[in-house]
Amino acid sequence: MKKLLLIHTGGTISMLENKETGEVNSTDEHPLSNEVKLIDTELNIDEHIEFSLPSPQITPKHMLKLANKVESVIPDYDGIVITHGTDTLEETAYFLDLVLTTEKPVIITGAMRSSNEIGSDALYNLLSSIRVATTSDAFSKGVLVVMNDEIHTAKNVTKTSTSNVATFQSPQYGPIGIITKDSVIFHHDILSRPSHPVRSINKHVFLLKAYAGMDEQIVEAIYQLKPDGIVIEGLGQGNLPKETLSIIKRFINEQIPVVLVSRCYQGIVQPTYGYDGGGKQLKEIGVIFTNGLTGPKARIKLLIALEKTKNIESLRKIFEEEK
Ligand code: ASP
Repeated sequence: MKKLLLIHTGGTISMLENKETGEVNSTDEHPLSNEVKLIDTELNIDEHIEFSLPSPQITPKHMLKLANKVESVIPDYDGIVITHGTDTLEETAYFLDLVLTTEKPVIITGAMRSSNEIGSDALYNLLSSIRVATTSDAFSKGVLVVMNDEIHTAKNVTKTSTSNVATFQSPQYGPIGIITKDSVIFHHDILSRPSHPVRSINKHVFLLKAYAGMDEQIVEAIYQLKPDGIVIEGLGQGNLPKETLSIIKRFINEQIPVVLVSRCYQGIVQPTYGYDGGGKQLKEIGVIFTNGLTGPKARIKLLIALEKTKNIESLRKIFEEEK
């Protein structure tokens, strides 16, 4: 009999709607606990509540605690399913993907509608995740996000809609699998899976989105906060307004890494343009280019990478390793 552990961390999947006020909020007991017990007599499912937090309150320190929990219990289980609020689910999924070393399935899911709302996806997503976690094909694929009949990699998935149940998408490459009434089908594999176990997560990394008319002031304000690193969601293929160049140079001269992603939700940043503030110039002054990560995920990666090295060239290699 397969043995699974469900780890709850909070979010809508752990909440109930107040039928009088319409407010959705946390409950003392997990609303799906009883349902889970009825699910499948062929499975041995244990449950553990790690946190009961709405996901805007989840921090990288919570993510590390969760990772440590998974590492400590995984030898006793065939797979783990984590429930999480959807707002920051993709960051926790990617954090775990980067730091965990297990080949066993680790699935993260959530819900857009709490358990007692009409059309709730809470129990459905949980059941789908349990099904994926017990599939041998889910081995060695890293941390997977299961929502709305789809299986996504932690690296590519993102929340695209504030309220639609089809919110989780992988805009660049699509899901790697689907879940039907009687099967779990993987139609793509992963090419590489770097892992960077860390013991602490203490660095200060800021995330900034570029905009037309942006100048040095906002970057200067971040510099004054003495960051360990900064991620900038640049324009298009990886360009910035030229007014930001001198302060960015100062970051790099002082060995503070500057990581560039695009504010576009598809595509990869490249050193294409040679004009002032263009990607070619940014690359030449030492900005680290990423390969399709979103800003929040590049920030998670930089936080983890900085626990291993502060050397800009070593950091660059860590950002270039993923296919
Ligand atoms: N605001 C909620 C959270 O992330 C949304 C959700 O779980 O769907 O905790």
